Amino acid sequence: MGKHYAVFGSPIAHSLSPRIHAAFAKQIGVDLDYVAIEASLDDFAAALAAFAARGGNGGNVTLPLKEAAFVLCATTSERAHRAGAVNTLIRDGGNWHGDNTDGTGLIRDLTDRHGLDLRARRTLLLGAGGAARGVAPALLDAGIDQLFVVNRTTERADALVDAMGEPGRVHARYLGDVAALGEFDLIINATSAVRGGELPALPRSLVGRRTAAVDLSYGEVAIPFLAWARANGCHNAVDGLGMLVEQAAESFALWHGVRPETDAVFNELSGRNASLVTAD
Ligand code: NAP
Repeated sequence: MGKHYAVFGSPIAHSLSPRIHAAFAKQIGVDLDYVAIEASLDDFAAALAAFAARGGNGGNVTLPLKEAAFVLCATTSERAHRAGAVNTLIRDGGNWHGDNTDGTGLIRDLTDRHGLDLRARRTLLLGAGGAARGVAPALLDAGIDQLFVVNRTTERADALVDAMGEPGRVHARYLGDVAALGEFDLIINATSAVRGGELPALPRSLVGRRTAAVDLSYGEVAIPFLAWARANGCHNAVDGLGMLVEQAAESFALWHGVRPETDAVFNELSGRNASLVTAD
């Protein structure tokens, strides 16, 4: 009998994850089903318990549930613990074990697919939610220089910075003070601002000679930030589709013990076939 997987989040109807995991399963020859389950912060615990009762073997967690998932796990990996956020759930006896593959997925996409050398890059991270928490430790491990975290809710930026435990290297700053921060070599939009409103205003002074701009989202939601990046002279403008495929491959490897090949799936979903790419 096949195994059962699901991605939880809200909104989730347009998630590409079921399709990505179906493609990986076909490639490797694993019998599984992978569905999308709509769950808000209020009903996530109940939805996850119901999934476990139906025999669920594993899951992914997306916006806005990654920090809630961390709390619901009996055990977590070291990288999930560092992030305080979980995007991958593994059934372990009667409990959930939590891991976080977002950071590894982002680094793989930026370095292997896009050929970016992240070392010594002065980095601005916009956002301090579950995704920002997942990628911050991996960016530090990848050798970036100073990391500045800017978030609408200052307390969340402070908490992320405290969790990194490197006060000389990781700093929280007010969104309103962003114009005073100087140039960055890497600017990452890890906010969901475009979904519910609009991107915070970003000055051109943030952009230097080799600045790479990365939006963790993709499809229509990524357009405003990437348009800003191109209009303001960023050297690279990368959306989150590659990260999505790479973090999925890392989750797949945790569940099934084999890391699938990702380029074919990325190419199928990428802009060369734009009609397939919808907001996740
Ligand atoms: P989340 O936990 O809900 O956090 C949302 C973040 O966006 C918070 O920092 C929040 O600030 C900020 N924000 C929301 N509305 C805003 C507004 N109007 N103005 C300014 N800031 C605003 O969500 P998440 O899980 O971190 O996801 C964030 C984004 O990353 C989403 O677009 C998601 O699709 C994307 N993502 C992509 C991948 C991938 O594999 N490509 C993986 C993970 C996430 P406050 O703290 O002030 O509320």
